[in-house]
Amino acid sequence: MGPYGTLVALVALLAGLAIGKAWERYKLQDGRWIDRRRARESPHYMLGLNFLVANQIDSAIEELVKAAESAGDPLEIHLILGNLYREKGQVGRAIQEHQSLLQRPNLRKLEHANVLLCLGLDYKHGGFVDRALEAFTEVLRLDPENRYALTNLEKLYEEQHQWTEAYRTRQQLAAGDTSTNQPRHHAILAFLETEIGLVALKQGNHAEAARRFAAAIELDPKNPHAYLNLGDVRLHQGDIAGAIAAWERLVDTSPDRAYLAFPRLEDAYPTAGQPARFPDLCRRLIGANAQEWRARLALGKHLRAGGHAREALALMFEALVINPHALVLHQAIWHTLSDLGLPPDLVTRYVDLSRDAIFYLDPHICVRCRYRSTELLWQCPHCHEWNTFVEERIAPAKETDVAT
Ligand SMILES: [Zn+2]
Repeated sequence: MGPYGTLVALVALLAGLAIGKAWERYKLQDGRWIDRRRARESPHYMLGLNFLVANQIDSAIEELVKAAESAGDPLEIHLILGNLYREKGQVGRAIQEHQSLLQRPNLRKLEHANVLLCLGLDYKHGGFVDRALEAFTEVLRLDPENRYALTNLEKLYEEQHQWTEAYRTRQQLAAGDTSTNQPRHHAILAFLETEIGLVALKQGNHAEAARRFAAAIELDPKNPHAYLNLGDVRLHQGDIAGAIAAWERLVDTSPDRAYLAFPRLEDAYPTAGQPARFPDLCRRLIGANAQEWRARLALGKHLRAGGHAREALALMFEALVINPHALVLHQAIWHTLSDLGLPPDLVTRYVDLSRDAIFYLDPHICVRCRYRSTELLWQCPHCHEWNTFVEERIAPAKETDVAT
């Protein structure tokens, strides 16, 4: 088990303990809390926790089994044991352990909810999606504000592309949370709203799609995915000025994602009778950020298409100094060099600039789990978090300030 797995096991354990505290209160009213304390005071329990912290899962299981036996098989320890089996990848055994707890008589509501929660995680881990959905839904029936169940349910819906259900679940999470977390909830709701709009778009319902994208922007005025799609729908509806306005809002609100709108704007401006606006936009972005290699590349390609290969190449070389690893850049340079008939001085300059480059098509990385992708993704396929991808610079860009 890697460090990530250990973390999950510890979190699962702590979740169990946190709910265990709540039971303790119940038990206090009942006068039965001594039993629970006996489990906690067992040397096997402490040893088990120590092994767990040291990442020795098998030894931890061995001690916790002994602790459970010596304390009359408390539910809590069996929950943890089941969670450990799951973390070890023994999903069948985890399900068995947790399911047997459901057979116990006189389960309290909260105990029942927690067993179902663990069972839901087992099913999810084993890929039994329907059963996992059922278990988490049942947890929420018993304990409507269970955030752990809501979070897992949302992820399951997202995996199934059930965006409306995921949206509703995220709304429930937001409703029970503090005001400081609301911007994060709104940002995620905006991505989900955008996905709902994309489904409408696929079904040919452009008006509904446009409404959804606008709603996403209302939730989070910085959501680049929504602007991109809103522009596409408006263009489809024949509203070229509206399309340009949406894409320009993307450039203004997320300059680091501006390049996503470049090909669209480069096409749209001449159609709208304003061919000079694309190079102007690129120059403005380059002026605003010395490290803007994508605007240099876009302007370079634009100039090359207009027959200004030398000017184009100068911009591409500047971009190469900033990001020597992007294959898209090298490809543009090869094309431009060949347009020019491969002049030896420029070829030599290119070879010098790219000597230390490693080629990646367009490397991106998830800042949460370090998952690598060859393109920008809105949701990480590994950790399933929204909007966590950033451009990966394999080596720091040279300190040279190319704008001066
Ligand atoms: Zn990730």
